[in-house]
Amino acid sequence: MNRKEQLERISIDSKYDIIIIGGGATGLGCAVDAASRGYKTLLLEKYDFAKGTSSRATKLVHGGVRYLAQGNIRLVREALLERGRLLQNAPHVCHTLPFVVPSYKWWQKWYYGIGLWVYEFLSGKLSLGKTKLLSKPTALVHLPDLSIDELTGGVLYFDGQFDDSRLAVNLAQTAIEQGATVINYCGVTGFSKKNNMIAGVTAMDEISGQSFEISAKVVINATGVFADELLQLAEGHSEKTIAPSQGIHLVVGKHFFKGNTAMMIPKTDDGRVLFVIPWHDQLLLGTTDTPVENISTEPTPLQEEIDFIITHFNRYTASKITNEDVKSVFVGLRPLAKQGNEKKTAVMPRDHVVKVLPSGLIHVTGGKWTTYRSMAEHAIDKAIQSAGLAISSCKTKHLKIHGWSANKSNTSLSIYGVDEAAIQLMITEDPTLSEKIHPLYSYTKAEVHWFVAHEMAITIEDILARRTRLLFLDARAAIEAAPLVATILASVTGKDAQWEREQVDKFNKLAKNYFLN
Ligand SMILES: Cc1cc2nc3c(=O)[nH]c(=O)nc-3n(C[C@H](O)[C@H](O)[C@H](O)COP(=O)(O)OP(=O)(O)OC[C@H]3O[C@@H](n4cnc5c(N)ncnc54)[C@H](O)[C@@H]3O)c2cc1C
Repeated sequence: MNRKEQLERISIDSKYDIIIIGGGATGLGCAVDAASRGYKTLLLEKYDFAKGTSSRATKLVHGGVRYLAQGNIRLVREALLERGRLLQNAPHVCHTLPFVVPSYKWWQKWYYGIGLWVYEFLSGKLSLGKTKLLSKPTALVHLPDLSIDELTGGVLYFDGQFDDSRLAVNLAQTAIEQGATVINYCGVTGFSKKNNMIAGVTAMDEISGQSFEISAKVVINATGVFADELLQLAEGHSEKTIAPSQGIHLVVGKHFFKGNTAMMIPKTDDGRVLFVIPWHDQLLLGTTDTPVENISTEPTPLQEEIDFIITHFNRYTASKITNEDVKSVFVGLRPLAKQGNEKKTAVMPRDHVVKVLPSGLIHVTGGKWTTYRSMAEHAIDKAIQSAGLAISSCKTKHLKIHGWSANKSNTSLSIYGVDEAAIQLMITEDPTLSEKIHPLYSYTKAEVHWFVAHEMAITIEDILARRTRLLFLDARAAIEAAPLVATILASVTGKDAQWEREQVDKFNKLAKNYFLN
């Protein structure tokens, strides 16, 4: 996957069947779907792939136990089917994860157990494991650091876990392999129209400043929480269609809650669920659901959200954490579809919405990472119908995603799937590339070279936030690794020392938002 080659394609030929705006889960899913059906497809992402919400999820491939409690069986069933498909199509970035719901009253075990049996039943043949009631000692085998006062046992169930931004990069690679043109750092700045109907876009290469006029039979707006900006450009109205809801995550050391099982806290003070999840040898705690007005590429946590997570974690665990224990805090904005005057985002449905607007623009939003494939199928079906394209059916239900590998290794490079062998070969040819970019984490210099050559990484942030996850795992370690990453980037791309310094300064400023002072 080479950005220069992709850019050359739009310079040479600027006519497409389908243009997709936005390189998060939704847009990338659309690009894979459209290209695999044989349409000439272009995806444009203003920043890096998954720079928006799609790198900031809780990283669960799930049906959504909470939606079951709300009685949304259809949504849960659809998401469970998609969960099963994703685990089959991208096993290198997804895996099954055991969860325990602890119970502190005699009836809770049965109450949650029945709900979770229904959850498992709805997944049918794609079930990931048997739901079981646990005695107190067995619950403690799974979660040894659980608070034992009044503990009566728990319920064991299974869901999926994935690495969101790694999957996004792999989807971009898959789309290109299927024939799409996919470009990061290339934002859409305007639309061209014929007879008041959208006939193409103006895009700008954010690196060189060069502009492109590109035509398409149909354009899809998959810009998540930024969708209203594009709708205003296309439709000229200022009505808000997105109700952003903020969710924060805290990352702390794994020693605070040992074991390889996640915990679901079934009812928080605001009536939601909270997860405590092992993730890349750390512990991920989240999330919150706070309606916000301000839409930013770098949303920041509220003190009350941090306190909320710490208080709930400490209530359920023997070890107690404080602000000082937090290695990283990252925040995402849910692109929820606005429902009339409803203000409470926690009660808004998580279903996706696909609409054809008066200008012909296809608008797709809502949903979740788990259902990105079915959202894309729905959006491309609508695009075909609306633009009168020759009908071609969806091919993605069983399409293997870039990196797919039948056998997962147990090395730290296993997340790259089939690409692991190529990274290993780089290390064999130059053993210095096995050196780590930070002494406490497994990421190597070889991986940095790989990201630049094959995964369109341009900045330190691309490498430390989304190709590796160091910024999200340990913001201080990411700051410490930044100068070395800048030196490698500069040496590979022929940049000078001044560029390196500017890159490091820019990254440090950003990374400071990821730790608590
Ligand atoms: C806190 C939180 C936790 C979550 N946890 C889970 C979970 O565990 N499991 C799950 O399944 N789902 C989860 N979700 C939901 C999931 O993350 C989102 O539904 C999904 O990532 C949305 O993807 P998207 O592509 O619609 O939006 P985004 O990822 O935001 O992508 C939109 C893209 O459009 C780009 N863009 C904007 N303007 C332009 C322009 N002018 N030109 C070109 N590009 C542009 C942006 O840069 C951005 O990259 C979670 C969400 C949140 C907020």
